[in-house]
Amino acid sequence: MTLPERVTIPTCIGCGSLRLFADCEPGCNEEKLELIHAEAYDELAGRLAEQRALLGAVAQAAQRLAAPSSGGSEAGYRAAQEIARAVLRAHPSGGAQETEPEPPDVRTAWWCPECGGIEDWQECLGICVWRPLEWVSRERYAELEEQLVGQRERVARAREMLATLAHVTPRPGHWDQSLALLAAQAGALLAPP
Ligand SMILES: [Zn+2]
Ligand SMILES: [Zn+2]
Repeated sequence: MTLPERVTIPTCIGCGSLRLFADCEPGCNEEKLELIHAEAYDELAGRLAEQRALLGAVAQAAQRLAAPSSGGSEAGYRAAQEIARAVLRAHPSGGAQETEPEPPDVRTAWWCPECGGIEDWQECLGICVWRPLEWVSRERYAELEEQLVGQRERVARAREMLATLAHVTPRPGHWDQSLALLAAQAGALLAPP
């Protein structure tokens, strides 16, 4: 049995006890398992998807800026401008939120590598009332968080560049200059760190 990364566990709405069968006879082996609510993980995943969308738009725009096929630099600039406007409309917060994600509650439970059971008993005032709740392993949450934080600065610069492209239209005669400037910015952003 491998350690679960995302798992639905019957969870008591009163005391928070977790019980996903644990059936070994005479008893389960227990390994410590740290869990995060899947909801918190999904929020983080949503932020990461926004970051990816912004960086993807920079890559697309860079193509148009670097190789304005027909119509010259004005057509190239305007095509890239459309890409920037579309992605900023679709992702107004742009994955570059000022607010940090709330640090998630970490729940410790016990996992049995023999049967895959997960449990952790708390003292319940009444009788446990179970409902299925989704959990994600803390390791998996941490991986996502690291990615998110690691590219935050780059995403903020991407957002600035896209905003400039979306809102600034060069004066006649300055298309080449503006295009070259933004193409250089996009190139720097996309270069591997
Ligand atoms: Zn077991
Ligand atoms: Zn309970």
